[in-house]
Amino acid sequence: MRLSQMLFVTLRDDPADAEIPSHKLLLRAGYIRRIGSGVYAYLPLMWRVLQKVSQIVREEMNAAGGQECLLPQLQPADLWKESGRWDTYTKAEGIMFALKDRRDQEQALGPTHEEVITTIARDMIRSYRQLPQLLYQIQTKFRDEIRPRFGLMRGREFIMKDAYSFNTDEESLEKTYQDMHIAYSNILRRSGLAFRAVQADSGAIGGSASQEFMVLAEAGEDEVLYTEDGQYAANVEKAVSLPLDAQASAFTSYEKRETPGTETIEKVCEFLKCSPTQVVKNVLYQTIFDNGTSVLVLVSIRGDQEVNDVKLQNELTKLAPKYDAKTVIQLAVPDTEAQGKWANKPLPLGYIAPDVADDYIKSLKDIAPHFLRLVDKTAVDLKNFVTGANESGYHVVGANWNEQFKLPELAVDVRKARPGDRAIHNSTQTLQSARGIEVGHIFQLGTKYSITMGANYTNEQGEEKPLLMGCFGVGVSRLAQAAVEQSYDQDGIVWPVAIAPYHAIVTIPNINDAQQVEIAEKLYAQLNQAGVETLLDDRNERAGVKFKDADLVGIPYRIVTGRAIANGKVEVVERKSRNSQEIAIAEVVSILKQWIQSVNSEQ
Ligand code: ATP
Ligand code: MG
Repeated sequence: MRLSQMLFVTLRDDPADAEIPSHKLLLRAGYIRRIGSGVYAYLPLMWRVLQKVSQIVREEMNAAGGQECLLPQLQPADLWKESGRWDTYTKAEGIMFALKDRRDQEQALGPTHEEVITTIARDMIRSYRQLPQLLYQIQTKFRDEIRPRFGLMRGREFIMKDAYSFNTDEESLEKTYQDMHIAYSNILRRSGLAFRAVQADSGAIGGSASQEFMVLAEAGEDEVLYTEDGQYAANVEKAVSLPLDAQASAFTSYEKRETPGTETIEKVCEFLKCSPTQVVKNVLYQTIFDNGTSVLVLVSIRGDQEVNDVKLQNELTKLAPKYDAKTVIQLAVPDTEAQGKWANKPLPLGYIAPDVADDYIKSLKDIAPHFLRLVDKTAVDLKNFVTGANESGYHVVGANWNEQFKLPELAVDVRKARPGDRAIHNSTQTLQSARGIEVGHIFQLGTKYSITMGANYTNEQGEEKPLLMGCFGVGVSRLAQAAVEQSYDQDGIVWPVAIAPYHAIVTIPNINDAQQVEIAEKLYAQLNQAGVETLLDDRNERAGVKFKDADLVGIPYRIVTGRAIANGKVEVVERKSRNSQEIAIAEVVSILKQWIQSVNSEQ
């Protein structure tokens, strides 16, 4: 492609609405344009990158036995009602774009395709002889994200590769899952990314394995906890660890103490001269279930620990049947406004005890009349602890479970693991923290969809069994931007060769110099012919402008037909290292071809 003919517009300054480097650079270098909130046009350079990523994904999926297909983006509501996800996706999480067609039928734009693929499997798979199956597609997904941001990182319309497997049993599912682990590792390695596969939260369904593939970058929205020995890595949402040992309590008898102005753990510990590990902290949450019931939840946890909201939500989902509900649709610490709706009187915030009275809760139709009391495992064994006295400005000390306070029946692990905690597999290892961008997620779904949607097969013994399923996603557009987030410098993008839009750019410093033009034209034609994807900067611009643009766009190799041509040479600059060398014109094509091949085969 000739830049003189290309829709090629670069911006000198950072666009105001972009926060992270990769978003700024993709906008400035003319890869993407914002069309609406979370909606971007992929311009020709970006589309080439996306196609390269897609091709790597396709090759690795095919190598693992995947069959490519293309499923509809417009999906009938009935399918989502069958799986029971219509309400959660349109109302609760509200992430699905839903609409009514002119026949008044409800439809949705696919945020994901479990329902569609399960209905296909239900119709087409009859016997164990047809299993296992692995289908995938590379397609635009729609999600009405609450906070679309960072460009392609969190869009409302984005490209995903999603794959679904159907298996006879756990063993077969595990095999597909392992194959996908390898395929995903290959995809990221070949794309030139530094990444880590981590254990991930898989919701309330216990036992179902799930891993996320994280591209390591400061701008990542996820926190990863890992150990140096390489034995453990998990998303903080899922991570477990050993808490520090609690210090022995300094209090020996139960007493109520006046502790003015100590509504935080730090303040009360300073006032009472005790360790936060001797305190039982009581954290109030409000959860709303899918049937509209609100429940006030009180979590008692050791004072030095924090509650992990994802773990808590999973515990509450398990408890949903107790409230005639299926799932949690909201979980939050109730603010003053929310409290105003259900509290009879002001709560002793900062001084709440594990037994705070149920009569704080108004009797209202949609509100459970009792606090749901949970105790985190870190608080169960505490003796002579400090906790609130249910009265502003007062705490109690020397308290014990089942003496002054009934130990909640439900002891759970809802504690947030933290950097510096000791690892469970080896207590000499401590957890380290890194930021990551989730670009892939592999997940053993089990029979969740096949049971609700009745997708069965007949096994070798002639018995009807639900299909086991796995699902495996890669954010193709997110991955492409993550590559930039991991690889740029002050002058612009530094694409990994494997996914760069072009391998090389031939720059003509002076368009009025016939010899420079002639050599450049020749190299441009020969390089493309040899499979080195090459741009020609034949614009009537100053050399400095052209060099700046080439750096910004991030093409791996720049070939300059400048002064060196007098000696039968051109200057070749590697974008990444900025190494510059003069190479004989006759050898440029074969040398570049070799470089590109060797970089690609290294990966
Ligand atoms: P996240 O936690 O980031 O919201 P998710 O867990 O909802 O993502 P999955 O349903 O597992 O995402 O989708 C598979 C992959 O699709 C993700 O690993 C991610 O790379 C990509 N993806 C998900 N949501 C978006 C989005 N809004 N914009 C771009 N890519 C996305
Ligand atoms: Mg995910």
